[in-house]
Amino acid sequence: MVNKFLILPALLLFMLFTFGCAPKQTALPKEAQTFVTATAPAGPTPAPTDAPPPSEDLSPYRQTMKPKLAREVDQQAAKGITRYKIEAALLPESLTQRDGPKIQGRMKAQYTNTESVLLNQIYFRLLPNTPGYGGAMKITGVTVNGKVSPAEIVAQRATLEVPLHHALAPGESLRIALTYEASIPTTANYGYGMYAWQDNILTLAGFFPVIPVFDADGWHVEVIPQHGDATYNDVALYDVTLTAPADMTLVTSGDILTVTHPTSVTQTIHAYGGPMRDFFVAMSPDYQKISAEVGEITVNSYFVAGYRQAGEFALQTASEALQDFEKRFGPYPYRAFDVLAAPMPGTLGGVEFPGLAVMAQRYYQNPDNDFWEFVIAHEVGHQWWYGLVGSDQVNYPWQDEALTQYTALLYFEDKYGPQKRQELANLYFWYPYNQLLATGTDRPVAGPVSDFSETMYGAVVYGKGPLFFEALRDSIGDPLFFAGLRQYANAYRYSIASPEDLLASFGQANKQDVEYLYQKWILK
Ligand SMILES: [Zn+2]
Repeated sequence: MVNKFLILPALLLFMLFTFGCAPKQTALPKEAQTFVTATAPAGPTPAPTDAPPPSEDLSPYRQTMKPKLAREVDQQAAKGITRYKIEAALLPESLTQRDGPKIQGRMKAQYTNTESVLLNQIYFRLLPNTPGYGGAMKITGVTVNGKVSPAEIVAQRATLEVPLHHALAPGESLRIALTYEASIPTTANYGYGMYAWQDNILTLAGFFPVIPVFDADGWHVEVIPQHGDATYNDVALYDVTLTAPADMTLVTSGDILTVTHPTSVTQTIHAYGGPMRDFFVAMSPDYQKISAEVGEITVNSYFVAGYRQAGEFALQTASEALQDFEKRFGPYPYRAFDVLAAPMPGTLGGVEFPGLAVMAQRYYQNPDNDFWEFVIAHEVGHQWWYGLVGSDQVNYPWQDEALTQYTALLYFEDKYGPQKRQELANLYFWYPYNQLLATGTDRPVAGPVSDFSETMYGAVVYGKGPLFFEALRDSIGDPLFFAGLRQYANAYRYSIASPEDLLASFGQANKQDVEYLYQKWILK
């Protein structure tokens, strides 16, 4: 299989580097923002059916954690992370309609201003309205602390702006309630295909409005190109109730704690998750499931009937990668990890979400190859780089993607030894980089996703980018290199790190060496 990759035209090889996982435009400036053109008002605003507020009881969230790490729920809750209570229903008859499945939902977000400035408005991303999702989300009602809000939809329909009657001071909290409707495309060809109903599999990334990161650049409401990860979120707690047809097997971030059957043809799942950066749901009437215990983690593999061998391969690879990375970078916190199959566009291999990895169905047909094993290890690696340690995936995609590529290489190094490791470093990193040099198209690894074409994104961020970490390890040696990665994982667990924070994590190494290599491999 390796040879097959080597003889592929360079362009196709570049495309193979679409491991999955996202790009930018300028963030809205932080205070006193001017309104972006409102393309559609939130519409006549009925008071939302008053969804019950997020429960104060943290015990369901603790249940989704490894017992020894359950306290991390309390620690993060004490910091004022956002708490979402989402109640959504998939309309069963809509699954067979030509214009795609529909969801009706209501949500309550308990938001605390953890910034150091007054906030005059809060934003929600409406991801189904972005090009990479290809669906639609309509907000039908907004209240702030129970009062109807004149919220507006802005920024290419992708963002809801909720003005606050009184500016929210640092440390103050409020509750925003929303009602919404969303429709899902019947093709997985938009973006990464993670909001789609195709081949009897429904993927529901972004099925609820989500509050983006606010930082020194303001609110991050960038609309990104279709290649690249679309979200940049803080960790939050999720209390999710979802009603779906009874014949569906559901897979979610976090854990499904209860299932009830309101009617003979429907089921309602109640899931909790967090602290985590997103909450993903998939479902299919065709999923089969196998599981394995890895220490305190239950690893589940969901695959379509007929692909059991691939499902077993995914289960084993994900289990071994989790074990390997826990040893290298510190504990994965959740009780469960899921790896599941779903249709994806083109040659995309996989996409990461908190607590799970979605793998492209096409690779289940031929599971025994290095590329697919590499992609599974890559998506598991994202549980540390993206999941636990957050970074701006839109404006600094290399920070999680290049490091996650290097982390997948470490899995091969640990499992198969130095020869295999070098073979894959040559194939996945050096080959595309040398192609860039040979074709005169080399460019800096740094830059937002929107700065790259799809093929260049793969070759530069996933091919050249990991060579920074290889060069750094060669330069400062294994002890300082791995101490630096552990430091990075520990110091920014559940928070967000800048590129400078990553570099500073190698603080025991000669600063000039680190800076020189950063300039050479990332900035030039
Ligand atoms: Zn990735």
